[in-house]
Amino acid sequence: MAFTAGSLLREAGRKLADAGFESASLDAQILLAHVLKRSREFLLIHSDVVLQQQEQAEFELFVNRRLAGEAIAYIVGEKEFFNYKFKITPSVLVPRPETELLVEHTLVFLQKVLQNISDEQQKTIRYHDTCTGSGCVGISVKAMLPLIDVSVSDISKDALAVCKTNMVAIVGYEIPYFESNLLDAVPGTFMCITANPPYVSTDYTNMLMEKKLKEPRIALDGGVDGLDIYRKLIPDAYKKLQEGGALLVEIGEEQALSVCEMYSKTGFTDITVYKDLAGHDRIVFGVKNEVLS
Ligand code: GLN
Repeated sequence: MAFTAGSLLREAGRKLADAGFESASLDAQILLAHVLKRSREFLLIHSDVVLQQQEQAEFELFVNRRLAGEAIAYIVGEKEFFNYKFKITPSVLVPRPETELLVEHTLVFLQKVLQNISDEQQKTIRYHDTCTGSGCVGISVKAMLPLIDVSVSDISKDALAVCKTNMVAIVGYEIPYFESNLLDAVPGTFMCITANPPYVSTDYTNMLMEKKLKEPRIALDGGVDGLDIYRKLIPDAYKKLQEGGALLVEIGEEQALSVCEMYSKTGFTDITVYKDLAGHDRIVFGVKNEVLS
């Protein structure tokens, strides 16, 4: 039996809503748009399009994967972040909208550094993104500020493979990358370092794992209190920052106080917390300014 896009969307939307998915109709639209290689807008305007049997079967398979809990980004293999399309596999975390804030504040800092300096000098400004995963933060910054010297690192070889694909697709070539436990194997010093490290407590990660979203534990689990990675990263980054350089990290919404304390104990100044659109503390910023301290 032949079905139209509209009737399939309604049926799938109902199934997903009944199963408790909050974004049921959006999910159904993204999945059907992916099957038909069309935009969501096309589907909404052409809801009378009749699907071929094979397309129908593929859509049903995707809806069932979603019903089983898998993240949409893994089913369609991509996620939009900062207006760029990133390839996503279960080796990397699905980029979150709030992480765009990390990119925004990094750009604000770097743009100040770049003010009034020549193109030649811009090429000497070094910026590094660790715990890069899909590369969404580091690659977005490189795409926005193509002259500066950007590198990325991750402890996971599989994540770096995904990241390399994204570098080529978005920047046009591979930027330097390091397989490294945080900054251990990353050479040199930097004007800016960023990280969206795993910061979820082990207990909460266990609960997330049960949801079968397929996200990698290594990208989420930050130890008993979720703060383990910051304990190493913050002092390590301080050593690798140049005078006047900044460290920006994403944090869990209840971690601002502890993370700010780590920044200040390490010697950072100008420590600032930025909130996300939901009003949650999300980014911590600090500068290495030895002259003042
Ligand atoms: N914000 C993510 C979540 O709550 C976690 C991201 C991370 O650990 N870096 O699922």
